[in-house]
Amino acid sequence: MQDHQLFNRPLVEKYDRPGPRYTSYPTAPQFHAAFAEDDYRAAAERSNGATVPKPLSVYVHIPFCKSLCYYCACNKIITHNTERAAEYLAWLQQEIRVQGALFDETRRMTQLHLGGGTPTYLSNDQLGELMASLDAAFHFAPPEEREFSLEVDPRTVTPEQIHELHALGFNRLSFGVQDFDPDVQKAVNRVQSEEDVVSLVHAARQAGFQSISVDLIYGLPLQTVASFDTTLDKIIALRPDRIATYSYAHLPELFKAQRLIRPEDMPPPERKLELLELTIRRLTEAGYVYIGMDHFALPDDELTLARENGTLQRNFQGYSTHADCDMIGLGITSIGKVGDTYSQNVKETAQYQHRLQEGRLAVFRGYRLSDDDRLRRDVINALMCHNRIDFAAIEAKHGIVFRDYFADALEELREMADDGLLAIRDNEIELLPAGRLMMRNAAMAFDAYLAHSTGRYSRTV
Ligand code: SF4
Repeated sequence: MQDHQLFNRPLVEKYDRPGPRYTSYPTAPQFHAAFAEDDYRAAAERSNGATVPKPLSVYVHIPFCKSLCYYCACNKIITHNTERAAEYLAWLQQEIRVQGALFDETRRMTQLHLGGGTPTYLSNDQLGELMASLDAAFHFAPPEEREFSLEVDPRTVTPEQIHELHALGFNRLSFGVQDFDPDVQKAVNRVQSEEDVVSLVHAARQAGFQSISVDLIYGLPLQTVASFDTTLDKIIALRPDRIATYSYAHLPELFKAQRLIRPEDMPPPERKLELLELTIRRLTEAGYVYIGMDHFALPDDELTLARENGTLQRNFQGYSTHADCDMIGLGITSIGKVGDTYSQNVKETAQYQHRLQEGRLAVFRGYRLSDDDRLRRDVINALMCHNRIDFAAIEAKHGIVFRDYFADALEELREMADDGLLAIRDNEIELLPAGRLMMRNAAMAFDAYLAHSTGRYSRTV
């Protein structure tokens, strides 16, 4: 697909408004405290009793970082005191034991993601202990069936450690690069040398990682089209399998760290769109395929192939090629998805320890999906992963008449159809190339909660 088909400036401007990213439906603002530990235990039990229980996917949140990036909106703890991480790891292992006991031993763990914070804040010895506990509790699938990934802060690892991470069982990693420009790096307090990133990417290739991903951010202070073009040049030369380009949402009233960014350094709103346009043009010209929602991948990458053959999926970490799993969230703030429920752990380490000390789970809120939620989730996933909603498939699965059930949504989408962003046909809705950047806008038409939601969302483009 050509970049000019994807990026239509007036339409991008028109539809750029706050909206959910739909890593789940319903989205997190709908989770509530009436869903408690017992509900989670019951969901785990039901999942064991399925005719064919799903494989397990585990997310582990490591909240520690050594220094503060000023753009950060993550849940993190800035500290040089490595004792705190050791203590956290001990509680994490307790949670792993308690959670592991809820899932049948015959089930296998096929997917793992370590996020943060900075997972590589932990030493490789600590990561080794963590992997051993996870294997004991959730039973790793054979190596060829695993998708085990972690986020790597290039400032925290050496090429030798990258080899060790592979030996520990990780086969995918993503490097947080954001921008190579020295002035931008200083303005956000995240200084890392290009040479280090290059040698780490080469080490990851030599070590045999199946997929190497690089994260970039556009819209950062002092970024110009020329400076970001240079960063893109360097990244394209490295040829990672996947590139994620996130839009920086500057919300200093919400995120304290962002108040450290000088307001006068912030690019004007139109610059962000220029940066987005540049990114799409450079990456598509370099042969990358737009997957959706900030993600690009090489044509032979599994994500691209999954998009082509209709098996692409979405979860809390973004796009995934893996079969539908029951997902277990471990560590503070983490979110799980077991059967027809979502659940989230407490957000503070003190509460986390307190609960585990009492022999309880750390789940503090969650949600059990209704039939209507499941239906809408399928519709939104179809849009986000396949650019297409097949009415007959949805009708057969959910026993509804699509045009009747979603008459309001179809009416709402008429404007996007008139603008050439999507096509509403007798038997399907298709997102057209010009509408693919606006897939969140289309999904919002099917969200039953949005009108009453108090959630704060990033902009949709
Ligand atoms: S951006 Fe990442 S490394 Fe930086 S402070 Fe936030 S969580 Fe830590």
